[in-house]
Amino acid sequence: MRMLPLVRYPVAVQLGLPFGDHADALAPFAPPAPGHPHAPDSDVEFYFVRHPRARRYLLRVDGDGRVRVTIPRGGSRREAAAFGLRHLRWIAGQRAHVQRPGLSADERRGLRARASVDLPARLLELAARHGLTVSRVSVRNQRTRWGSCGREGHITLNWRLTLMPAWVRDYVMIHELMHLRRLDHSSHYWRLVAQAYPDYEDARKWLRVHGPALR
Ligand SMILES: [Zn+2]
Repeated sequence: MRMLPLVRYPVAVQLGLPFGDHADALAPFAPPAPGHPHAPDSDVEFYFVRHPRARRYLLRVDGDGRVRVTIPRGGSRREAAAFGLRHLRWIAGQRAHVQRPGLSADERRGLRARASVDLPARLLELAARHGLTVSRVSVRNQRTRWGSCGREGHITLNWRLTLMPAWVRDYVMIHELMHLRRLDHSSHYWRLVAQAYPDYEDARKWLRVHGPALR
C-alpha cells in the first residue's frame, strides 16, 4: 500500500459565535468512551488571546500541541474554554497534522523492537480469522509503503503501523492479507476488503489525512 505525498494542512478554523445559538449553549464536557478509536487527547492545554477585531471564537493548534483560543469582542474566557472543549475531536485531528519533534534514536529503536513482535502477532491473528496462510512476515522501515504483499505470501509491514490507531493498523493488515487472495486492486479485490473490513473507507480516509504526519 503506497503512502501519499506529504501535504501540510492549515491548522486554523473559524467557527460560529456561541451567543444566542441554542446548539452552542454551555454544556458540561462529557469525556469520550475509553478505547474509542476517535477519542481525542485528554491533555489539551489551552491558552487564551483576546482579539477585539475577531468576529468569532477561533482555535489554532501550535507546533508544541498547545491550543490557542482567540476570544472575540464581547466574548469571555469561560465561553472560550467551553468552545475549546466542544472541539476536542477537531483538536486531536489537527494535532496529528502539526509537525512533531522527531523521535529520539532510543525511542525509535524501542518502538521498532516492539513493532517487530506486536505487528506479526496481530497479522497472524487476523490471517487465522480469515483462514489465510502467511508464509513470512517482515517488519521494515519503508519510506513509501505501509505494507506490501509478495507472490509467495510474504507480507512486509512498516514499523510505523504501531503509531496508528489499532483500527487503522488492522485495515492496513487486512489490505495486505486480501492480496493473498488477489494481487491487484480490482473491484473484486475491494469487495474482499469490504467483506473483511466494512469500515475500510474510514481507515483509508484516516491514512490520507494523518498518514503523512507519521513519516
Ligand atoms: Zn494493495
